[in-house]
Amino acid sequence: MNATRITRHSTILTIVIAGAALALAACNSPDKGTQVGGDTPSTPSPSRTTATPEALPPDGRQLFDFLLAKIPKLVAKVPCSCCPYSLAQCYRGACPTSCGPCNRIGRQVYKWHVQGVSDDDIISRVKIRWPRRG
Ligand SMILES: [Zn+2]
Ligand SMILES: [Zn+2]
Repeated sequence: MNATRITRHSTILTIVIAGAALALAACNSPDKGTQVGGDTPSTPSPSRTTATPEALPPDGRQLFDFLLAKIPKLVAKVPCSCCPYSLAQCYRGACPTSCGPCNRIGRQVYKWHVQGVSDDDIISRVKIRWPRRG
């Protein structure tokens, strides 16, 4: 008797990817229940953080030279409160380097400039804040 052994290797693996059958809904409605947190985007307090007055040199000759180098056109237009000239002229000798207003105005002018205030606005602010003495 012939024993015929038929070995059947039926190792056909049919992989059905069920995921392919998933039809994506065309109109996914967003989750209306989502609650956006009440947090407002962190706004820095309107302090003087954007300007960096710390980066300015100390009062006096150093500050004057710094401003003349950095914003020459602006200080040429900003009126000094303690003399009939512009800050640029004060910084070139019309005022002593120890002049308080010249140092203070210059500092503030530079700060506004760093903050993006226009030259015209800066000048009008200076005129309001430091009116020229008669
Ligand atoms: Zn002056
Ligand atoms: Zn002055």
